[in-house]
This record gives sequence, C-alpha cells and structure tokens, in this order.
Amino acid sequence: MADEVQVPRKKIQATDLMNEIMAAYFYDLNEAAISASRKVAWCTSVGPAELLRAMGFAVYFPENHGALLGASRMATDMIPAANAIGYSPDICSYLTSDIGAFLRKTTPLSKAYPGIQSVPKADVLVFNTNQCRDVQDWFAWYGREWGVPSIGITSPRNIGEVTEIHIDDVARQTEALIPKLEAVAGSRLDMEKLRETVRLSRECTELWNKVLATATAKPAPITFFDGTIQMGPAVVLRGTQQAVDYYRVLLAELEQRVRGGIAAVEHETARIYWEGMPVWGRLRQNSELFARLGACVLASTYCSSWVFPSLDPQDPIRSMAKAYLELFIVRTDQYKEKYLQDMIEHFAVDGIVYHDAKTCPNNSNCRYGLPQRLEAKTGIPSLVLSGDLNDMRCVSDEQTKINVEAFVEQLVEGR
Ligand code: SF4
Repeated sequence: MADEVQVPRKKIQATDLMNEIMAAYFYDLNEAAISASRKVAWCTSVGPAELLRAMGFAVYFPENHGALLGASRMATDMIPAANAIGYSPDICSYLTSDIGAFLRKTTPLSKAYPGIQSVPKADVLVFNTNQCRDVQDWFAWYGREWGVPSIGITSPRNIGEVTEIHIDDVARQTEALIPKLEAVAGSRLDMEKLRETVRLSRECTELWNKVLATATAKPAPITFFDGTIQMGPAVVLRGTQQAVDYYRVLLAELEQRVRGGIAAVEHETARIYWEGMPVWGRLRQNSELFARLGACVLASTYCSSWVFPSLDPQDPIRSMAKAYLELFIVRTDQYKEKYLQDMIEHFAVDGIVYHDAKTCPNNSNCRYGLPQRLEAKTGIPSLVLSGDLNDMRCVSDEQTKINVEAFVEQLVEGR
C-alpha cells in the first residue's frame, strides 16, 4: 500500500472570483423568490435554460442543489425522509436527498450563504427527460407541494444518430412550452433576447470546452475534481455574460499553467479518465487518493456534459433541441463507445475509471459490457468503482482505496 503522504492542493486562483459569482447568483435567486420581484423557474441541468432566462425568470437548478447536499455530506442523512414518503432508496439520490432536505426544512445554501433560509420557491418547474425520468418525478413532487405547474419536454433517449425527426420532436415540444411560460411570466417571449441568450450560452460552452481541453497538456493543469467545482457557472449561469467572463479568466490561468509546465498533480505518472457521476461526498478524499499515487484524473464525460456546440443564435429553438439531444447521456452504447475512444486519444489517457452509481443507472455506463468492448478495442484498462453520487451508504472507502491503488499500480507498470 502506498504511504499516505499529504498532497498539497494546488488552488486555482480564479476560484475566489467564481465563489463571488456563485454567491451573487444565489442571493439574486433568493431575493427574486422572497420579494416576488421576478418569477422563479426550476430547470433540469439540460432543460431549456436559455428560454427561461430570456423570458426573465430567475433560473434555479435543483441538481446543483443535489450536488451541494452531497458535497456538504448532508445528503445521506436526508434520504430517509424521502424514503418515508414512498421514494425508494434505489432511485436518484439527488431526488431523495433534495426532497428529504426540503421535508426536514434544511439546505446547505444556508451555511454557504448566510441569510438564505431555503431553496427558492418555484413559480414553474421545467424539466427535460433527456437525462432520465427521475427529474420529471422530482419536479412533479414540488409541483404538487406548491400547486405550481410542472411542465417540460419528454425526450427521445438511447439515440444513435440525432435525426431531423428527433430534432422536430424536441423543438416542437419546446415551442409548446412558450405560451405556458408566458402565462406564468406575464410577458411575451422576445426572440431577440432568446437569440442573445443562446449566443452567450454558446460562448460559455466554447470557453468551458477550452478549459477542459487544457488537460490534454502533459502534465495536465486541471483535474476532474477541480472541474466538478469549476463547472458551477456553466451549469447555473449559462446564457449570461458573467459565465462567459468567468471562463475567460479561468482559461487564461490554466493556459498560463500549461506554458509554465505546472501540473495539477505533481509527478503525473498516470493519466485517467472518469466516466460517470462524481462521488460528491468523497470529492476531496478521491482527489487526494489519486494524487497521492501520482495519478491525474484529468477528464470526464460528466464535466463535458455542459458543452453544447450546436447552439446557434440564428436558429435558437431548433439548435437548443439539437444540443439537448446530442448529449452523451441521451445516446446509444455504440455512440458512447466511439465517444470514449475519441476521448482516450484526445487526452492520451492510460486508463478509465467507471463509477457505477447505485442510484443513477442513467449515468453508469458499465452495465452492458461497454468497458470490456472498449478495452478490447483500445487496450486501455479500466476499473469499475461501485458507489453513488449522494448516498454514501453505497460507498466503501476501504474497497475504493484498495481498488484504486491496485489499478494505478497496473497502469504505471504497463506504461
Ligand atoms: S441523471 Fe442520474 S443523477 Fe441526474 S437526475 Fe437523473 S437519476 Fe439523478
């Protein structure tokens, strides 16, 4: 077993600015909800955020709250409250921990942002089932609780090629949302505003993609674990100038690191790709575990899920539909295999870690033989870690440590 030496964490300086931006976002949201100065819309992570933003809604993303519950290690204690009202421990632990926290009248936002008492009450909840059915059920619960509409897009899933038929379907469903949203907002959609929001969202996406691409450098200047924190503005503020400005600053810092040969993980001896959800309650622990072994987990499907190259301000609604369909999570295993093969080459990785998240089959891609097929094709070894995003009862720290140490040793020997 490796000695447990302390690994100094390399702080990304831009993080202070990001924290300010995130704080301003949450206080603004809180103000909108409390003063009723603006309508609040809840949106799934890849729901039609651009549309909501363009219509003047304050947009809140409960999956981000789910991640906060996980990262603050509150989630596991909240889950039983949702189980008690009939939501199974086997379904999405974002859902169960979020609803559980609401039932227990608590939120990590209060600790992070003093003065915020609760999540913002929604005037409308807008989902897209491109990722899973759980988001629809999650939003339906709040819809019933508050007596507000829960509306959305029921997306095709398991798609190989994204065709015009798929795009027509989602674009028409998106258009059908507009009058319903206008009724809640009390104002009409301004198409110019939507174009501008899509333009900003696209710019954010391009910058975020460049940020992630800095990890192609050897040594990589950023890890997947950094990425899960740095993606905050791309998730909750896409379609705004703040997100664009932030990623310019972050990108400049990382490019500077690349020029200076500054490694995110000292003595990078193995380069690893992370496939699946983060283990939010073990982010720091996992980051330190890999770093101690000189292994840099430098890229992931998860962080790349907020890259939408198809967004086009000239054709906002259709391009939104296309972008939301092209997501990795919406696609067939055949597509995923090819995507991962490209990522292996792009980031020159030595191995892949698949996180088999107990409560998220949608983001666990090791259940239908994909790792074995990919390994046979590429020769790149893989490790499956059993765990979960938020329910830490599904995580064995000792098993994770043993498996990761053995895997990294195998990678280093194989180099
Ligand atoms: S994709 Fe997974 S983690 Fe995300 S909301 Fe759906 S079930 Fe939960």
